Amino acid sequence: MAKKGRIIVISGPSGVGKSSLLKRLLEKHFGKLKFSVSFTSRVKRKGEEDGVDYFFITHEEFQKNIDDGVFLEWAKVHDNYYGTSRRFIEEIINDGVDCILDIDVQGAMFLMNKNLSALYIFIAPPSIEVLRERLFSRSTDSKEAILKRVKNAEKELLFKDKYEYIVVNDVFDNAFNDLENIIFNTNK
Ligand code: 5GP
Repeated sequence: MAKKGRIIVISGPSGVGKSSLLKRLLEKHFGKLKFSVSFTSRVKRKGEEDGVDYFFITHEEFQKNIDDGVFLEWAKVHDNYYGTSRRFIEEIINDGVDCILDIDVQGAMFLMNKNLSALYIFIAPPSIEVLRERLFSRSTDSKEAILKRVKNAEKELLFKDKYEYIVVNDVFDNAFNDLENIIFNTNK
């Protein structure tokens, strides 16, 4: 039987550059790494595609999936529900391909507590001040919404030491190299 792929869990606060790092990683290592497409009850943002970014479902459908045991883990993040499909990741890793989960700290803690064998990586900003500046300069959201995200980020950062690896996203290319090294040069 072919060797199973690994599960790679990646968390990090909103605005830290996680999506850009993952996008580049998945493009560069196309075929070797696949993204776990989560289910969510949040509304689709402009430019997002159903089945690519998320499987967009209603809150009722989400609840049914919880009841049916569809999720390996799920959590409520920023007032919306997000969950990882057991079947989706099993199909990937059974093909011998590594699967990347972009999930929040609650989901990651749940999997760690269940002793799920995975590579756990946290993407951190150089400091909370830098994150606050980035969010304010790049986002078109209201001041209240941004401050809420900063507060959430502060909470998420409290968990960073629980992860096996922390990648600090100061200079994008350096953070990318660090992430790539962790994923491909560890024996896990
Ligand atoms: P966004 O709405 O910006 O796409 O994602 C918000 C947060 O939800 C991010 O921190 C992301 O990592 C997290 N998230 C996305 N999918 C899942 C999931 O399946 N499970 C959990 N626990 N968190 C998720």
